[in-house]
Amino acid sequence: MKRHRIDYEALDKRFLWHPFTQMRDWMESPQLVIERGQGVYLFDTQGNRYLDGVSSLWANIHGHRHPALVRAIRRQLAKLEHSTFLGLTNVPAIELATKLVAIAPANLKRVFYSDNGSTAVEIALKMSFQFWRQQGRAFASKRKFISFVNAYHGDTLGSVSVGGVDLFHKIFKPLLFKSFKAFYPQCYRCPFGKQPAACDVYCLNDFEATLAQHHHEVCAVVVEPAIQGAAGMLTAPRGFLKRIEALCRDHNVHLILDEVATAFGRTGTMFACEQEKVVPDFLALAKGLSGGTLPLAATLTTPEIFNAFLGEYADFKSFFHGHTYTGNPLACAAAAASLDLFKSEKTLQRLRPKATYLSRRLEDFRQLRHVGDLRQAGFIAGIELVQDRDSKTPYPASDRIGHVVVLEARRRGAILRPLGNVVVLMPPLSISRAQLKELLDITYASIEAATQHRQPRVASKS
Ligand SMILES: *Cc1c(COP(=O)(O)O)cnc(C)c1O
Repeated sequence: MKRHRIDYEALDKRFLWHPFTQMRDWMESPQLVIERGQGVYLFDTQGNRYLDGVSSLWANIHGHRHPALVRAIRRQLAKLEHSTFLGLTNVPAIELATKLVAIAPANLKRVFYSDNGSTAVEIALKMSFQFWRQQGRAFASKRKFISFVNAYHGDTLGSVSVGGVDLFHKIFKPLLFKSFKAFYPQCYRCPFGKQPAACDVYCLNDFEATLAQHHHEVCAVVVEPAIQGAAGMLTAPRGFLKRIEALCRDHNVHLILDEVATAFGRTGTMFACEQEKVVPDFLALAKGLSGGTLPLAATLTTPEIFNAFLGEYADFKSFFHGHTYTGNPLACAAAAASLDLFKSEKTLQRLRPKATYLSRRLEDFRQLRHVGDLRQAGFIAGIELVQDRDSKTPYPASDRIGHVVVLEARRRGAILRPLGNVVVLMPPLSISRAQLKELLDITYASIEAATQHRQPRVASKS
């Protein structure tokens, strides 16, 4: 076939620069060129099929090329591909906002669009900051944020400033604004030596103290509910979020929830914050918003905050922020169709038994000598590999154990992407029970192979 005459892999290695990638490694090793997707599977240019075990970076919900999403995008394409949201509006953006407000936690009635998770968070930070600027002298000292150790809120400088993953963020420190950092639960390696069942979220005392001391300087608290994703899937116990919410209310500080990874059913409910009945002042959404089809993000907020930006033009209370592709009609049409699918396909009801099956099967992984901890929030799972289980000694970074597992999984027909030594499982919500079994079998065998062979086998290009 003609397409095989073009060596895409070589062209990629010649012209492209990939995110979060040591490009020398990339150029020196075989790479997959993905050509096609169907349901939970991806296909490369060689015709090999792979289970998409991480939903194309936590975004895909209903499978690749779901007919309803393809139809929605096609239909919209026949009318309008894009027009600006500055000074104009469009039908799909309005329809989507109406649907989002209908399902969002109670008081979130306004939708501000952007294109990715980093901007969704950054917009919330800027809105909160500007809100306090417009509240008069009494609040003039509110200029800072509280975020959490190991948090990940994206890669733009504002969201990096409230991030806490040193590996990603350290080098940029001179460019960042300062934020207070509080402890997020890290129960497997509790820095306070507590046992999760009996600790009453002891680590929150640190947050409470920071807030009590600095609330007059603080605009907002930014937090990932239920689970810190990029940190390595660190789960927070129930009660954690509710107490943060209460403390924010007590101290007159906004609560920004970053549900970029957790929204749209990932943790079992439409939004993770529903599980503790928490209503934030800002909710950042992206990844799964468009069902994983097109770049789209939204920052939702309350009437109280929105109203503080109303005034005479000359008051300059407008929110001075926007992107060229804000409210893109194709992405909004796809997102609206994705929300419809949650209803017509009963996505959340059908997820429940699959999440239970996932829990049960994860328990089997304890039989593997190098599995240190298993963490799960709904349909998100993290399997932490350790060199020594008793002492919880991590594998040295140079072993790249997560990466070795990924290569093993590829040979067995699944695409995974680790977070350091944590193997992540986050398949599309639409995955069937049989496909989920296949994914878990492959993952099990891959961890076994990667951790039991002294010399990690390198993926062969077949
Ligand atoms: C992925 C992610 C982001 C950043 O989203 P991008 O679309 O990659 O910019 C922010 N917050 C969380 C919790 C994420 O998982």
